[in-house]
Amino acid sequence: MNPTATATLDTATALIEVENPATGRVAGSVELMGVADVAPLVERARAIQPAWWGLGFDGRAEVMRRAQRWTLDNADRIVDTIVAETGKTRDDAQLAELGYAGAAFGFWAKNAGKYLRERKVRVSSPMLIGKKAMVRYRPRGVVGVIGPWNYPLVNSFGDCIPALMAGNAVILKPSEVTPLTSVLMAECLAECGAPDGVFQVLTGLGDAGAELIDHVDFVMFTGSTATGRKVAERAAKTLTPVGLELGGKDPMIVLADADVEKAANAATYYSMQNGGQTCISVERVYVEEPIYDEFVGKVTQKVGKLRQGLPGDAGSVDVGAVTFPKQAEIVAAHVEDARAKGAQVPVGGHLRPGPGRFFEPTVLTGVDHTMDCMRAETFGPTLPIMKVADAEEALALANDSEYGLQASVWTSDIARGEQIASRIESGVANVNEHLVSYVALELPMGGWKESGLGTRHGAEGIRKYCRQQASVVSRFGPKREIFMYPYSKRTARLIRGFLKLLYGRRPAGR
Ligand code: NDP
Repeated sequence: MNPTATATLDTATALIEVENPATGRVAGSVELMGVADVAPLVERARAIQPAWWGLGFDGRAEVMRRAQRWTLDNADRIVDTIVAETGKTRDDAQLAELGYAGAAFGFWAKNAGKYLRERKVRVSSPMLIGKKAMVRYRPRGVVGVIGPWNYPLVNSFGDCIPALMAGNAVILKPSEVTPLTSVLMAECLAECGAPDGVFQVLTGLGDAGAELIDHVDFVMFTGSTATGRKVAERAAKTLTPVGLELGGKDPMIVLADADVEKAANAATYYSMQNGGQTCISVERVYVEEPIYDEFVGKVTQKVGKLRQGLPGDAGSVDVGAVTFPKQAEIVAAHVEDARAKGAQVPVGGHLRPGPGRFFEPTVLTGVDHTMDCMRAETFGPTLPIMKVADAEEALALANDSEYGLQASVWTSDIARGEQIASRIESGVANVNEHLVSYVALELPMGGWKESGLGTRHGAEGIRKYCRQQASVVSRFGPKREIFMYPYSKRTARLIRGFLKLLYGRRPAGR
């Protein structure tokens, strides 16, 4: 990312000035931290982490529950900050960001202990008869979270919550484009009793993020696939484990028996919500021929009615600004590429003149897979719709992608929908739902193919922040096991007989 594209760097005062994308004015500023600041932050984190772990799940959960209340008590401040630095609507900030944080604090406070308690495991080896086998989880130490600009609360701070509940100290490197929310959440945790140094924010550029990788024990990265690759390469040097939540090109398949009105509402909302700047938003639609015209008609009408503009009070506008300047260029380039290759643009299609950076909610039809809008991540308020002959063609096109983050199938035949969903190559594949599965914090969420590595949420969403330790405990037993020295022909025969008895029987009927 071009560091000066949206956040102005004032090297004289060492500040990052954050732009409000809806007005073009300055939304606030944060300290410009650099590579040299990383080691001292990590040192502080390491010094305090054992005490934080020592608080136990209940002690840490108390801090998280206080933070949950703080978040709701300070809802306006949080929403104002998010709106100011992203240009998204108040409604998007409240539902997706505030709603997620409120739920996540409570969820991890309640479930971290359950997911991470020592587990006894039943083992099948006869060599362990009478012995206890178990797995225990220990925090990795210091976790580095590196986040994108599209959801400063959900996708930057959100991943810090399970990492903290697991007993780690956390250093968050937010996008330089949207660092204000992360700084506010540091204030939240400090006021709610998190010990000094347990949660710190590294307000710097990409080079500071890269440096962080060298110093921490786990990296949770959310961002583009291109940067994700760089993060994985850098982490390989120190063999630091990484979680990668990357880009997507999420398909929606609408079958001929779908409720067209419902599917059209969903396509409109899940492509335009957050200005289309959501990794799991609908990025392309495949519609079976018999309902194509009706579906396009409804979507075109609905998108055409969306109100766009300066985020004011709740309910005043539907679609906000493009947060990152370069993204507006990408969206415009995808629309132009589609137009040049013969697509129609029944609604929208232009970047509006300033002030503010608003790309019109846009529908594209007559599209195909030679066009960037169907293959590359657009990450803006566009909805390309393609006609297909049948479900098999839709499925083949949905899977014709390097990405595999999220998908949905729309049909009134639930069993068939589930069967088709199970054949889509993506980490999430819903039926008659799209991105709401994100709020099911019990379910794993993560990408296949070039959309990521690992998952967030669910048991794995917190176990990844721990080292696993296996343990076998023997309370009773002989002074010498039969397989120990001295080796002898007799014990070898006995063991052979035993192995044959256990594993050498023919399966029934063969
Ligand atoms: P980027 O990959 O550009 O940046 C992500 C973060 O990485 C930023 O904090 C950035 O800092 C930092 N960074 C840049 N270079 C490096 C480096 N060499 N080493 C370490 N960190 C670095 O992503 P965007 O901010 O543009 O976010 C949009 C992308 O995020 C989209 O592709 C979207 O799909 C994806 N995303 C994925 C989600 C998922 O769950 N799968 C969720 C949300 C978004 P700086 O900004 O200062 O340059």
